[in-house]
Amino acid sequence: MTQATEKTDLLGMDRAALEAFFAQMGEKPFRAVQVMKWIHQMGVSDFDDMTNVSKALREKLKQVAQIRTPKIVAEQRSSDGTIKWVLEMDNHNCIETVFIPEADRGTLCISSQVGCALECSFCSTAQQGFNRNLENWEIVAQMWVANKALGTTPREERVVSNVVFMGMGEPLLNVTHVFPVARILMDDNAYGLSKRRVTISTAGVVPAIDKLREEVDASLAISLHAPNNALRDELVPVNKKYPLEVLMPALFRYVEGGNSKKHITIEYVMLDGVNDRVEHADELIDLLGNLPSKINLIPFNPFPNTDYKRSSNNAVHRFQDRLKQAGLNCTVRKTRGDDIDAACGQLAGKVKDRTKRTLHRVELTDLTMSPQLNQV
Ligand code: SAH
Repeated sequence: MTQATEKTDLLGMDRAALEAFFAQMGEKPFRAVQVMKWIHQMGVSDFDDMTNVSKALREKLKQVAQIRTPKIVAEQRSSDGTIKWVLEMDNHNCIETVFIPEADRGTLCISSQVGCALECSFCSTAQQGFNRNLENWEIVAQMWVANKALGTTPREERVVSNVVFMGMGEPLLNVTHVFPVARILMDDNAYGLSKRRVTISTAGVVPAIDKLREEVDASLAISLHAPNNALRDELVPVNKKYPLEVLMPALFRYVEGGNSKKHITIEYVMLDGVNDRVEHADELIDLLGNLPSKINLIPFNPFPNTDYKRSSNNAVHRFQDRLKQAGLNCTVRKTRGDDIDAACGQLAGKVKDRTKRTLHRVELTDLTMSPQLNQV
């Protein structure tokens, strides 16, 4: 891993930030585009390799800026082709990134925090506790490193065609760093992914859903997992702060706010005997109403020390059929990479000093002061 210095990290800067950086150096905005292409499309991290940048400017850049990238400390390959990388982010913490190849796409599942503060009862990351938010460069570095490890340059071929913020952490509790990264992923001078191919998944941090609608045109997935407050309080405790009567209107605001037809992916983990009965499906149908959405049922992925069990295939299909009969679009997520603990909810990383969860709660409380919430 490259050492931290006082130099400015260019890897995590979106176009506007890079242009401002070059302006402050007395350089023209097109330098930002040139450098973005070198970094993200060509996978270059050494200024000397940027051959269309003058030697004088390269020297200047070396003094004030850097392109820091994390070290891959482990790589595991699943029998189904899924690859998990463990990346060392500082001297203490490691995070995990997963690549899932499919016939028609390659999805990269990236982390936004070291650990997670949300304590969802069925998620392995929650058991790790929370240490800190990842910086912009640490988040986009996962895409950069994945392309390197896969031996591809995004300029030539788009092996990683989709990115989902479904790794470790709650992306909407780290919007300052996550939003610029979403913009980099969608920038034609960087990875050029369409908004349908960049998905931010949240357990339901309502004020940040409104912010997302206003600031970044990416896709949204909601980890719903329960059709009523009593059950959701238990499974996704952030529901106590933003219960369904607050969350659902935010989802309607989100789809109405866009200028193109938007829809939301609803994630629903299937837990045996907990949330997988036909009555739950009926409640879910009522709750979603006419929200433009697609429901993705996720068979539970077990991890050590959990009492939850995966729903039977029968239960999953009964649930799916019920939703389909009601006219809802519902798919079942194929479990991938579970033999290397790379499936949804199995990412644990290596989180040092897990005690910061309480500190993070303060930030959660702060969010309730947002104007949107006060109106509810
Ligand atoms: N914090 C964000 C993103 C991370 S989790 C969120 O809550 O959406 C990505 C998805 O995996 C979420 O839908 C999450 O609820 C689901 N998940 C977590 N643990 C799981 C498990 N053990 N089995 C299956 N899915 C799980």
